[in-house]
This record gives sequence, C-alpha cells and structure tokens, in this order.
Amino acid sequence: MNIAEFRRHAHVMADKLADYFENISSFPVKSLVNPGDIYNSLPILPPENPESFEKITEDFDKYIFPGITHWQSPYFYAYFPANSSYPSVLAEMLTAGLGTQCMMWETSPAAAELEEKVMNWLRDMTGLPANFQGVIQDSASTSTLVAILTAREKASSFFINENGFQDNKYRVYCSTEAHSSVEKAVKIAGLGRKNLVKIAVDNEMAMISGDLENAIISDIRKGFKPVCVVAAIGSTGTTAIDPLEEISEICQKFNIWLHVDAAYAGTAFVLEKYRYMIKGLENADSYVFNPHKWMFTNFDCSAYFVKDREMLIKSFEILPEYLKTRPDSKVNNYRDWGIQLGRRFRAMKLWFVIRSFGVNGIKEKINNHIQWAGWMAEEIEKTSLFRLIKPQRFGLVCFRFIPGNIKDNEIINTINQDLLYRLNSSGKLYLSHTKVKNDFILRMVIGQTYTNFENVKKSWEFIYETARILSEQIGKN
Ligand SMILES: *Cc1c(COP(=O)(O)O)cnc(C)c1O
Repeated sequence: MNIAEFRRHAHVMADKLADYFENISSFPVKSLVNPGDIYNSLPILPPENPESFEKITEDFDKYIFPGITHWQSPYFYAYFPANSSYPSVLAEMLTAGLGTQCMMWETSPAAAELEEKVMNWLRDMTGLPANFQGVIQDSASTSTLVAILTAREKASSFFINENGFQDNKYRVYCSTEAHSSVEKAVKIAGLGRKNLVKIAVDNEMAMISGDLENAIISDIRKGFKPVCVVAAIGSTGTTAIDPLEEISEICQKFNIWLHVDAAYAGTAFVLEKYRYMIKGLENADSYVFNPHKWMFTNFDCSAYFVKDREMLIKSFEILPEYLKTRPDSKVNNYRDWGIQLGRRFRAMKLWFVIRSFGVNGIKEKINNHIQWAGWMAEEIEKTSLFRLIKPQRFGLVCFRFIPGNIKDNEIINTINQDLLYRLNSSGKLYLSHTKVKNDFILRMVIGQTYTNFENVKKSWEFIYETARILSEQIGKN
C-alpha cells in the first residue's frame, strides 16, 4: 500500500465505520456462529503475495463480521459494558497513526504529560482524594496485581523482590463476591491461592467487616502476616458495596494495604450523590476503576490510583544503562509504575472523550443510564412473572423469572437458563447471568454509550413477552 492508497482507504474505512454505527441495531447482538466456523473458513496458509485492500475488507465482511459480538450495540446489556464512543474511536485512529511507544517521558513527552493531566482530571472528576496519583494500566486485573505486588513489597521491606520467598506467611483478604482477578493476582504474586482469605458477605452481598477483623486477628495469632485487603465497590455479580469506612479502619489498625476495586462503579462517582459509597477512600492505599467500562473510552484503559507513589515505583523500577535518560528525576517514567515496559499512548482517547463530552455530558449520560435501570426495576416489580433482586444499583438490574407457583430452586434455575438462551439467540439483545447463593439470576446492564430510553423500553417488552410465552408453555406441560 502506498501513501495515496492509504489516504483513499482511510476515507473508505471512516465511511464503513459510520455505516456500521448507523446500522448497528440491525445485527444480532451476540454472534450466532458455532465454534470453529470462523477458523475453518480461513485459508490454511498465509498469502505468499500481496493482496489488495479491497479483497481483505471484502473477506472481513464475509468471514469475520458474522463472528463479531456487537459490544457497541445499544442492545448490549451483558457483563459490564466495554464502551467506545465516536470521539474515542477517532482518538484511537490518531494513536495508531502516531504509533508511539510511551515507555518513558523521553520516548514521547506529550504522552507522559497528558497521562499525568488526564489522570488528575479523572481523580478530581470522580471525587477521589487529592493526594492520589494515577497511571493508566491495561485492565483492572493488572491494576489489582500491581496493588498486591506493591503491598507484598511494602510488607516485606522489598525483601521478596530481592531474594524471592523464603518462608511464605503472607495473607490477602477479599469477600466471597470479589472479582476473580483478585485470586489470579494472588497466584501470580506467588502468595498462593490458599493464602487468599475469602470473607463472608451479608444479605446485600457486601463483606462483613467484623468477620474480616476476626480473620485478621486469628491469622496474626497463627503467625501469618496480612499484607492486603481488596474491597469491592460495585462487585461484578450484583454491584455490592463493601463497607469501606469500616474496612479502612481495620486496615489502618493492623497496618495493611487497602486496595479498592471499583472497576465498573467508579464512573458513577462523577455524580456527587453516589460519593458516600467511597467514604473512607482517603485511608485506602490504592484504587482502580475502568474508563473502558462505562466512561465511553475504548478498551483498554484502566485508571489506577495510589497514595504512595514512591512505594509503587520502588516496587517496579528498573534502570538498565540503555534506559537511562537525562530528565529522569524531573518527569514521570510510567514504565516504573506497572508491569509493562512498552506502553501505548492511552491518555489520548481519554483526553478526546473528556473534552468532547465535557464533564457535564458524561454526568448526563451516566445519570440517564441509572434512571433507566431504575425504571426497568420498577417495571419488573409490577409483574408477577419476575422477581427483582434488591438492592438495585447503578445501571445493573438483576432479576429472576419465577413463573406460576414453581417452588423447586433447580427447576427455576433451569427455566432462567432457558429464558436467557431464548433471549440471546434471538439476536435482539444480549444479557448475561450470575449466581447469588444458589440462584441463577439474569443481569441486564444499561450503560452502552448510545443506548436510549426507547431501546430500553423495547428490550423490556421483548423480555416480558418472551417470558410470558415461555411461562404459558411451562403451564401446559
Ligand atoms: C470487570 C471487573 C474487573 C476486571 O476488569 P478487567 O479490566 O477486564 O481486568 C475487576 N473487578 C471488577 C469489580 C469488575 O467488575
């Protein structure tokens, strides 16, 4: 491809994407292909000779597109969103064009300084403590791993970085509802899965802080050293809120690193009325939330904040001769703020998003999503076919289909699986599920960038109608 062709195809690609966004509601939200369909449709060998751009995009339409699940569809309600937005996509185009590798200040000063600026903006926009400093990581999983590694180094006075484990007595705590990334991080950090203590939750699925304190005291008596507690603000299953203030007091009392995982819910704190949920954060050590979930910024973009920046850097810095640069002492070299050396220029898309929407524009969208989820919850409560799982929070609505007077929990679980399958295979929308205790429940997250109230109403009608038909069929059997 030469530069003239690049120019021409770039215009074509822009049109192609605009057409895609215009028509996105007409595609099955969840891809309906079978395992192996895509793989087997592609040639065994790579092409020996150059192929034309036209041919490649034609094959994209034919072979790849049917295997796409449309995360940017306004009818995507599964998991948590991985949103983009028009300004974010354009920023990604620019980032790809520049192709900078932002491992340190000198390898692109603007990338490092823009990252510092937008992270401070995010901190202030969401009401985080002013002494927190941010860095962009690829995911919340990585942010949590970085937190646990830093906690480990702090607790061992950097002994483990230097010598490896001699005798592992370290313990980490989270609730039984914490995200699986905590367990993954504990394994990777060499602490051992058995040293992750899962604390019981109350009826609202929030960590019981008294149980946390008892577990810590009992572990210390047995000779363990507690290094880190991970609190969830908005758990993945049901957006449970761990009691942060109480947990932070326990962590301070026993000098334990407190990491707060607000991967999804963190975006909601642009709205002041929800900030009571992060009271106590000023006593935490680190915090993560994902603009790539609910803040209209393309994956990957995870905002990680720490109070003690020196502790973070001391845990991760490396300085071989070939990476030494003159301004090292005056600037942020983000290679020392996490695991990767090489880094993409991820601050750019955040800058485009925050400026294009404005803080007020972001607030308005988030507030709408939350209002519409509240509307959905009210509708569910009005029917006898469903039960709402309470409390309903943010953009997530959890509910369960309970037709007639069926009492057997396993049968109700099976019926809910069946309903979910019918809904998702229609292609009209995409929901996901979780289990609360032993109950299979449906999850609907209203939070896609361009979802509007009409989409939500239409989806609710479709869910209700599908369930009604299913309940009639069950009644006949
Ligand atoms: C989604 C989620 C994660 C994982 O996020 P990634 O960025 O995909 O690693 C972690 N914690 C919570 C609470 C989440 O909801």
